[in-house]
Amino acid sequence: MFSMSDLLVVGSGFFGLTIAERAAHAGRKVTVIERRSHIGGNAYSEIEPTTGIEVHRYGAHLFHTSNEAVWDYVNRFTTFTNYTHRVYSTHAGRVFALPVNLHTINQFFDAAYTPDEARALIREQAGEYNVASARNFYEKGIALVGRPLFEAFFAHYTAKQWQTSPEKLPGDIVSRLPVRYNYDNRYFNDTYEGLPTDGYTAWIERMADHPNIEVRLNTDFFDSTQPWNKESAVGQVPVVYTGPVDRYFDYSEGALSWRTLDFEQEILPVRDFQGTPVMNYPDADVPYTRIHEFKHFHPERATAHSADQTVIMREFSRFADRDDEPYYPVNTSDDRAALLSYRQRAVAEPKVYFGGRLGTYKYLDMHMAIGSALTLWRNELVDSL
Ligand code: UDP
Repeated sequence: MFSMSDLLVVGSGFFGLTIAERAAHAGRKVTVIERRSHIGGNAYSEIEPTTGIEVHRYGAHLFHTSNEAVWDYVNRFTTFTNYTHRVYSTHAGRVFALPVNLHTINQFFDAAYTPDEARALIREQAGEYNVASARNFYEKGIALVGRPLFEAFFAHYTAKQWQTSPEKLPGDIVSRLPVRYNYDNRYFNDTYEGLPTDGYTAWIERMADHPNIEVRLNTDFFDSTQPWNKESAVGQVPVVYTGPVDRYFDYSEGALSWRTLDFEQEILPVRDFQGTPVMNYPDADVPYTRIHEFKHFHPERATAHSADQTVIMREFSRFADRDDEPYYPVNTSDDRAALLSYRQRAVAEPKVYFGGRLGTYKYLDMHMAIGSALTLWRNELVDSL
């Protein structure tokens, strides 16, 4: 059955599709199996039919990168709009700019601090914590923005998002967000940023559209009744596995903790619900973390959108059960210990390559998944398939 295939890719998110595309481009035959009924992993999006608005089914995906090779690569499949991501945060009935910048600080303290004055204030409010020696999310968050801003914008949002004490979360989760002592409120620092002009699904489909790539939807690697299953594939054909690493080993070293998301979508009879794509809700009395309003991701499509309706999506976070879609690795110290054991088992698997957010248990953004797939292809697979 594998005689026709040089490579089996399990999962069709950005990591899996990048490997499949590179291999196909280099003349190899690739089978991609996907458990869901569509490709693209959580980047998948659809046009909501009554409003004509593109909805990111698994939460908002914003593409950004400073990696030239990744940027060149993704531009083979799609052009990008000049969208620049900005996020606001509604705290105690007032709207503040994110990520924390001089505007946020001056709004919060009702002041007109200069950059140096604000820096001195935050340093004082950080107390004994500093960024270089911070050991976890809590210490790093306070070191970065001081205690009052941490309490207002991070503490409860993070409690909702992770349900894990911030002392147990890694500090690099909080340093995903820049802190700036000027009025720049771009959410990302990267050189390149934008949204795929004709949508995520068109981009993803172009990656998979190659005569050497065969995609099998609704096909679960762990279902032994379908031909591309784990028992019959491993050892017979190189496998790029992008599902959850703990699932691959049947949770032998313990289940890793993952967060999943629930979304509540509503079509509202208003032209504009919140005036911006993403509004965060960092207060404890609001059960969701943020609201997405999708029409604002593509202002250039205004004429294709319903003028008097909008689509919003409230986002709720919770621990994932085994049947839920894993979204975010929690990465506590227990998780990291189990992960080390899984990694030892992974290197012993014959020609199985683990990749992507789920396969590595790393909080990878899209550009990082694509970048690491390009590296795996170049450094290992290109000469070994
Ligand atoms: N975060 C927060 N308040 C916010 C935004 C982010 O406390 O208003 C924290 C939270 O712990 C979150 C992390 O920063 O999980 C990373 O935020 P990001 O917006 O990068 O998360 P993503 O969009 O990947 O869910």
